[in-house]
Amino acid sequence: MNSDATFLPYARQMIDDDDIAAVTSVLRGDFLTSGPMVQDFEEKLTQVTSASFAICCSSGTAALHLTALALELQPGDAVIVPSITFLATANAVRYVGAEVIFADVDASTGLMTPENFDQALKQDRKNIKAVFPVHLGGQTPDMSAIHKIAKQNGLAIVEDASHAIGSTYSCFNGEANIGACVHSDMATFSFHPAKTIAMGEGGAITTQSPILAKRLRLLLNHGMTREPADFVNKELAFEDGKEDGKPNPWYYEMHEMGFNYRASDIHCALGLKQLSKLDSFVTERRTLVSYYDKLLAPLVPLVQSVARVSGGNPAWHLYQVLIDFDTSGVTRTQLMEVLRHQGISTQVHYIPVPYQPYYRDRYSPSSLPGAESFYKRCLSLPLFVGMDYSHVERVTAALGRALNT
Ligand SMILES: *Cc1c(COP(=O)(O)O)cnc(C)c1O
Repeated sequence: MNSDATFLPYARQMIDDDDIAAVTSVLRGDFLTSGPMVQDFEEKLTQVTSASFAICCSSGTAALHLTALALELQPGDAVIVPSITFLATANAVRYVGAEVIFADVDASTGLMTPENFDQALKQDRKNIKAVFPVHLGGQTPDMSAIHKIAKQNGLAIVEDASHAIGSTYSCFNGEANIGACVHSDMATFSFHPAKTIAMGEGGAITTQSPILAKRLRLLLNHGMTREPADFVNKELAFEDGKEDGKPNPWYYEMHEMGFNYRASDIHCALGLKQLSKLDSFVTERRTLVSYYDKLLAPLVPLVQSVARVSGGNPAWHLYQVLIDFDTSGVTRTQLMEVLRHQGISTQVHYIPVPYQPYYRDRYSPSSLPGAESFYKRCLSLPLFVGMDYSHVERVTAALGRALNT
């Protein structure tokens, strides 16, 4: 590796002095957890997504698990999940004992299309209760069509929007924000440092439903409530055992099995400061993506950027290209190694989840030609805030050389 060339990971966080100051001020204060930062972060998240409710939690995986719990999915139920996603989307379904039905995806975008969804619905399975569409790389599947099919079949919809904070798409009444849940019951986010907004570990769920919001809050905190109006055991709850008495000051009640999936004030202080920069982060990512598109144009059709979904305005978590390795004379392993020697890290998003031994052994494999084709060709190039044009030039030049173009 050229000693003066900066190492370029495929993704990384952008932390400034003001982020560090926000975290240290929490460390000097009274609340490390369950304090005001959590509320401020949630409030800010409702603003940037236009959701009615935002519930912050400890990771994107916890967020997905909480949605499965809030929908009361259980053994015997089934959920449709696209084959190209991170493990956690499918695992959340298994956490509650429900079964996963893997839908195929479009070979040029990696997204589940309404046709893929319809196909998965036709599998000989009863009790399909929900669908978890994924915004791969920041692009939006056709949510309005998916919503229509889901509602015709009585399915709930949870968007795994881990990649898509800041993305929008056009719909009947203009632009819809991801997280506004215009075509879903809930949307989940991850604030892992590889994602657009970093909290260290962190996640959130947005929804328009006050009922789901309330359930999610209960489930992420041991299933317990301190809300006097909700107390069931009046004897223990109130002074003199009467409902019109004063609630006993120590009292709390557990109504169902829950978890500790809370996010701390330390994490939320970082998340809040990061969210205040979302617009500039998204603008920067879009600028880098346009420049990649321009520089890679001469490599078409050997190298093509993932196809663009019409009506979408993605915030771009990933810059994914599809490479025709069958004609390139180079394998993906060789290409990744050559690039790594030049300080450029790339990644594959994703190995189809049904190929994982856990899932392969559980479900007889069905044919997934779209996922297969996408997986064989995909590669994520470095994309993060703090990259500049010269970095994009370095990556695209190295890619061209490695493919002998
Ligand atoms: C990152 C990610 C998750 C999990 O988020 P964590 O915060 O790492 O738990 C889930 N789904 C997708 C698509 C992701 O990229």
